Amino acid sequence: MARRPTRALLLGALFLLAVGLVAGWSLSAWALWQTEVPDGLDPLTVPDSEILSPDLLDEARSYETFLRVLFLVSLVVVIVALALYARFGGRFVRESAAGRIGTGMLLGMLGLAFLWIVDIPFGLAALWWERRHDVSELDYGTWLAENWLALGGEFLFVCLALLVVMGLAGPLRDWWWIPGGAVFVALALLFTFVSPYLLPAQVDAPPDVVAETRSLAEEQDVGEIDVRVADVDSYESPNAAAAGLGPTRRIVVWDTLLESFGDDEVRVVLAHEVGHHSREHLWKSVAWYALFAFPGAFLIAWTTRRRGGMREPTAVPLALLVFVALQTVALPAQNAITRNLEAEADWVALETTEDPDAARDLFAGFSEQGLIDPSPPTWAYALMETHPAIAERIAMAEAWELRAGR
Ligand SMILES: [Zn+2]
Repeated sequence: MARRPTRALLLGALFLLAVGLVAGWSLSAWALWQTEVPDGLDPLTVPDSEILSPDLLDEARSYETFLRVLFLVSLVVVIVALALYARFGGRFVRESAAGRIGTGMLLGMLGLAFLWIVDIPFGLAALWWERRHDVSELDYGTWLAENWLALGGEFLFVCLALLVVMGLAGPLRDWWWIPGGAVFVALALLFTFVSPYLLPAQVDAPPDVVAETRSLAEEQDVGEIDVRVADVDSYESPNAAAAGLGPTRRIVVWDTLLESFGDDEVRVVLAHEVGHHSREHLWKSVAWYALFAFPGAFLIAWTTRRRGGMREPTAVPLALLVFVALQTVALPAQNAITRNLEAEADWVALETTEDPDAARDLFAGFSEQGLIDPSPPTWAYALMETHPAIAERIAMAEAWELRAGR
């Protein structure tokens, strides 16, 4: 008799908890979304014809169209391949003597290897296209070797992830996702901390780059930041990155950037990367990761229940499918988040360098050298672009100029 009120109470408590969680999530997302890019910047539009010559514009558009179609097709093929693996993958190790977690790891690695093979033709096609347009000089052998090494890294990652998940799911059953989410956030923190050491081979930066970085860091009121040059042997397009947290904070500039741009443009890049550090973007990225990791882990726990949950190795192929499907669904949101941070770094760079002309030349140069479409179609922008479009970045430089009254 006493059961009903208890059940009603429990449901009420659960409902309140859910409301609280959604409110907390939304509030955190809102707080993380705030940047110092002023609201209501004049919505300038910069026509593509002012960024690239008609010939280059045509080439950039057809170049990117091919890569976009390739991306879409590979996305579909990967999901179909994983769906097949989720359906039949469990058969491969029914007789495995590797134990519960060992068998799960085997299935995880098998799934990744399968995915790797399926994805190879798309990677080769993209490289062929990039080489044809002189965007990359990488040869096929090196590409394959690098891809092979990357697969090794992915094996390590999936084994570690399955060790955590299946280890916790043993005693905790379907509740593993709560401590599991926390472990993944801790790992993301660790990964961000050591990320400077995972970037391409690095050498000392030229003294003027070191001095410039020091003065920009001072101006942005952030402690000392190490700067290094990535020795990519002219294989890759000009690039730069901000990595590390606290004592490991570092900026890495690709040697191709120093070779193809003048001092003023390089200064904009350095100011942008210092901006990622001074505005705590790496911490913010980990916080965003946490906001996705817990619901993601919950959804994996929930969807794998019909396979006995994550304590059963046969649930691993399905978990892989759900994981990749969730990542795909979250892609537009995740890209919007990184674009928001990138826009802030651009703004900070404009405020620090006060050199909109250099910013404009830099972005136009990126577009020209990487054959980047200055204003991509909306669907490609949502699914593929981690940075604001070139036309938007140049428009921001012009908006800054307007506000500065120049
Ligand atoms: Zn950036």
